Amino acid sequence: MKYYVLFGPPGAGKGTHATAIATKYNFKHISTGELLRAEIAAGTPLGIKAKELIDKGCLVSDDVVEGMIESAFETIKGFDGFLLDGFPRTLAQAEALDAILERRGEKVDGIISIMIPDELVFERIKHRATIEGRADDASEEIISNRIRTYHAQTEPLIAFYKAAGKYHEVDGYPGTIEENQARVMAMVDTLM
Ligand code: ATP
Ligand code: MG
Repeated sequence: MKYYVLFGPPGAGKGTHATAIATKYNFKHISTGELLRAEIAAGTPLGIKAKELIDKGCLVSDDVVEGMIESAFETIKGFDGFLLDGFPRTLAQAEALDAILERRGEKVDGIISIMIPDELVFERIKHRATIEGRADDASEEIISNRIRTYHAQTEPLIAFYKAAGKYHEVDGYPGTIEENQARVMAMVDTLM
């Protein structure tokens, strides 16, 4: 199995590009954000706890998302690889991912990092709020907090994966979704 991580700030277009990459390469796309929103929609105890944090623009606890990822690896069959979207988001999660994969005799193959500047994060998320109606997209304060959380907790992963020789970056702007998709896919194609 191949294991790729789709990395980038909130609103970089990870979800949008993941679908195309997963389809082309027969990978299973796993978004921890989507899994958490499903828990919230189902009203599970985990979902109720997660919603409080997500709606403030904070991260949920590492063990929650690590458990989701490990159980996905155990139960999902029939694909050539996994494309992780929104995980790992902290150094502790990155180390846990290495440990989970090592137990399975596997490893992370590469990080696909989609970069956009902070100003664009705002613009994209405010636009998405009008389409998807996510509570955590609703206010400038929550969006700002997510950008701060990204810089403080998630950005250090760039150095972590560069040191491992697994970091590959591509611009997620400017242009239409199609133009961005083509640029991202051209980079991904060189990795496969
Ligand atoms: P994008 O727009 O690129 O898809 P996003 O940051 O807008 O990214 P999601 O990835 O869907 O949105 O995540 C939504 C929220 O779910 C996060 O702000 C965080 O609270 C929580 N979350 C998702 N993944 C993780 C994770 N790996 N660790 C901790 N919290 C997470
Ligand atoms: Mg997403």
